[in-house]
Amino acid sequence: MSFLNKIFGRKNKPITVEELKRALKNKEFVFYYQPEWDLKTNRTIGVEALMRWESPKRGYVPPMEFIPLLEESGVIHEFTRFLFEQTLKDLAELHKVAPEIFMAVNLSISQLQEADLTETIQKYLTENNMDAKYLECEFTESQELGEDVLSNGILDKLAEMHIPVSIDDFGTGYSSFERLKQLNIRKLKIDLSFIRTLMEDDKNKSIVLSIIKLGHDLGFPVLAEGIETTEQQQWLRDNGCDYGQGYWFSRGLPMDQLKPFLAENLKQK
Ligand code: C2E
Ligand code: MG
Ligand code: MG
Repeated sequence: MSFLNKIFGRKNKPITVEELKRALKNKEFVFYYQPEWDLKTNRTIGVEALMRWESPKRGYVPPMEFIPLLEESGVIHEFTRFLFEQTLKDLAELHKVAPEIFMAVNLSISQLQEADLTETIQKYLTENNMDAKYLECEFTESQELGEDVLSNGILDKLAEMHIPVSIDDFGTGYSSFERLKQLNIRKLKIDLSFIRTLMEDDKNKSIVLSIIKLGHDLGFPVLAEGIETTEQQQWLRDNGCDYGQGYWFSRGLPMDQLKPFLAENLKQK
């Protein structure tokens, strides 16, 4: 077998649970942090932690290719601890250059159902002397905000701890208006599929306008994900969208690139 065959052969092989356990132990999972910014001031308000697997054998593996397996295999619990350990440590470091920014983390359904989730979060908040208001837990509404997910009262517990929660990929899932009304949430994040063709598609414009109005009427701000062009950015700002995230402003960055980015961005008036 040629060298290339060996590499590509390995890349295409299905990922195994053993491999993921080893990767966790060897610290092959890393976080890239993508800034979220205020559309009116162009200043960063927080960052979202996006996980990457930098596998020596497979190369870069995107999160959607291994997170479902982490969940099925039960390794996700260990991963949740690692997530809060690493991101809150990094946030404390980032506060040296950007004291008011928050850290948003993505939590899947099974993570939200972990019995000791709030204890895990509290442990790492305390360890880093971090106020809970600087953390933000995102979950996607496509994971169905059904009774089964929320029956353990996790959202109430997070609210009691003063940890903000936001809804990711909004517009693609099952949120009922009744549920939205009850939830104590920090913001709605409009799914990037509506932004991708925003300028060409009047129906997407109508949907985005409706979400902005809905969010504002219910009392929470709205963020547009996946902004890639100046036109999209301007349109969203002119139509009352509060915050943005996307390649136009910045991709997800490793810590060593994020710190100078934040220092430069927050210095500007
Ligand atoms: P998400 O939370 O909706 O994250 C946004 C995704 O959109 C990220 O993909 C980001 O890189 C990408 N993105 C941001 N700006 C742009 C843009 O301007 N254009 C385009 N085309 N894409 C943009 P990524 O990093 O591949 O993550 C995919 C999903 O994986 C995330 O979607 C999130 O649901 C999940 N994920 C990532 N990290 C974690 C994690 O630590 N835990 C869990 N449970 N899920 C995670
Ligand atoms: Mg997200
Ligand atoms: Mg999203």
